[in-house]
Amino acid sequence: MARYTDAACRLCRRESQKLFLKGERCYSPKCALEKRNYPPGQHGLGRKKTSDYGLQLREKQKAKRFYGLLEKQFHNTFLKAAKKKGITGENLLVMLETRLDNTVFRMGFASSRKEARQLVNHGHFTVDGRKVDIPSCQVKPGAKIAVRKRSHESPKFKEIKDMQITVPAWISVDVDKLEGTVLSLPSREEIDTPIAEHLIVELYSK
Ligand code: SF4
Repeated sequence: MARYTDAACRLCRRESQKLFLKGERCYSPKCALEKRNYPPGQHGLGRKKTSDYGLQLREKQKAKRFYGLLEKQFHNTFLKAAKKKGITGENLLVMLETRLDNTVFRMGFASSRKEARQLVNHGHFTVDGRKVDIPSCQVKPGAKIAVRKRSHESPKFKEIKDMQITVPAWISVDVDKLEGTVLSLPSREEIDTPIAEHLIVELYSK
């Protein structure tokens, strides 16, 4: 599958916002945005974004990059969100939040969404007792997500058992058992992603 392979920090600099793509480093002074908070490239410092279209485009790019999706995946998610009842922008955010890779990240089993995607891809998780290795899988309220028994001894998951993990209200985690439960779908207030979703809806509605 195609994927973005250039420097992740360039994406944050392009959006002038931390997208938390590199785990621990994002919370340290080494974060590229701490030193160079302007868009990358020769014209980075001179760029201005003023048009409505420019703002809508940037918001869509930011959301896409935040959750680590490519354009086609993101657009497909939007089309599915638009078919659901309710407010399309909120549906979109809920669908992005309840992807398996994002949920694993929110549960604290990975330091970034990128790492979560990789761990899921490598088959380290089960959903309701069944191995699932598809990061885009949508988890539903009541779903139990667990680290597979055979992965419990890996250093990555052993160190998680000693960590203090804070999770959003829509999920609960039992760190000792290395498992968590989706309690409900997240409400808009419970999604702290800094995205103005109405701009994305406006962009795709043109
Ligand atoms: Fe973005 Fe993290 Fe790089 Fe900072 S360290 S620019 S938050 S990816």
